[in-house]
Amino acid sequence: MKIAVLEKVKNLETPLYVYDTQKLRRNLDALVSAFQPLGYHVHYAVKANTNKEIMGIIQSYGLGADCVSGNEVQRAIDCGFAAKDVVFAGVGKSDAEINKALDLDIFCFNCESIAELEVIDGLAHKKNKKARIALRLNPNVNAYTHSYITTGLEENKFGINIWELDKVLGVLKRAKNLELKGLHFHIGSQITELTPFKNLCNRVNEIQEWFFNHQIILEHINVGGGLGIDYHQPDLEIPDYQAYFQVFRSFLTLRPNQSLHFELGRSIVGNMGTLMSRVLYIKKGVKTNFAILDAGMTELIRPALYQAYHKIENWSKWAEPNSEKYDVVGPICESSDSFGKAVDLPTTERGDIIAIRSAGAYAEVMASSYNLRKKADVLLV
Ligand SMILES: *Cc1c(COP(=O)(O)O)cnc(C)c1O
Repeated sequence: MKIAVLEKVKNLETPLYVYDTQKLRRNLDALVSAFQPLGYHVHYAVKANTNKEIMGIIQSYGLGADCVSGNEVQRAIDCGFAAKDVVFAGVGKSDAEINKALDLDIFCFNCESIAELEVIDGLAHKKNKKARIALRLNPNVNAYTHSYITTGLEENKFGINIWELDKVLGVLKRAKNLELKGLHFHIGSQITELTPFKNLCNRVNEIQEWFFNHQIILEHINVGGGLGIDYHQPDLEIPDYQAYFQVFRSFLTLRPNQSLHFELGRSIVGNMGTLMSRVLYIKKGVKTNFAILDAGMTELIRPALYQAYHKIENWSKWAEPNSEKYDVVGPICESSDSFGKAVDLPTTERGDIIAIRSAGAYAEVMASSYNLRKKADVLLV
């Protein structure tokens, strides 16, 4: 596989995102065989990778879509996802985005504040429609992941806090154009232990009790996404979906006829992508050598933004042992534009092709044109 990709990349411009559709399909096969027997629903979190072909493949496995902007809702529809399988979250939905989703008649708005409930009600009223909504609640569960991708604590901007629920019910009573269908949660991303999900289940059970005591029937529970991948083992790894869904099966108490929804992004697309680049220069530093690549934080910002680890390999010297250490950096005028410090690599030269692994999620979608960089191409293999 590596050699076949290397042969192709040799004749192409870098930086280049390479997406391995076989790997994507293996992830999807594992995912579907884990959730389908349990009758669960999985919505692909579109923001992880919005490539149209990739989204088309994911749609063909029967997943729904989880969107966080009006353009993502539109992209999902364009890629063949049915509106009845689209959910729409986000703390700052604009009027135009809400109107678009109302016109498309999506499955559900995941609402993140009382103010938003009032706005959606007003816009739905103008269209003489009913908006199906779920309350995105802040369960105050720690995901034990990087603080920038922790979303379920009271200090985070996401979701409605539990102490506001009495007020929410008052608003919902008056809101004639809203239909409360469910509850939504999402505690964070790149979660590699199952304990936070178990803690989430326990919180959801308590919260469900509150709604039950208020005689409110909820048709669905949506527990969001966040299942992490092993960035250290890009070749071996297929996410352990069986164990993940088993946690919810074991610890979450569903009410009669209640459906359970998930929103997975990274675990589906993360390990199928590789950012390919070339070494521009080797530069001697005081303590270290720099390998300066033609790819930078403009193509993959995760190391700069979250101190994220990505495995770095020199594919031009794939048969040689790792004998030296390099600080692998990009060309952008920022000190944070670094992919890794003291990375073990074979003796590396100008022109070598460097693979930065597990770049299928939150890489191309976060690309910027900073330094007036041009957008890198994509190669599907
Ligand atoms: C980002 C996001 C997800 C997906 O998270 P992953 O870590 O990629 O699985 C799911 N739901 C919501 C609301 C999100 O914002």
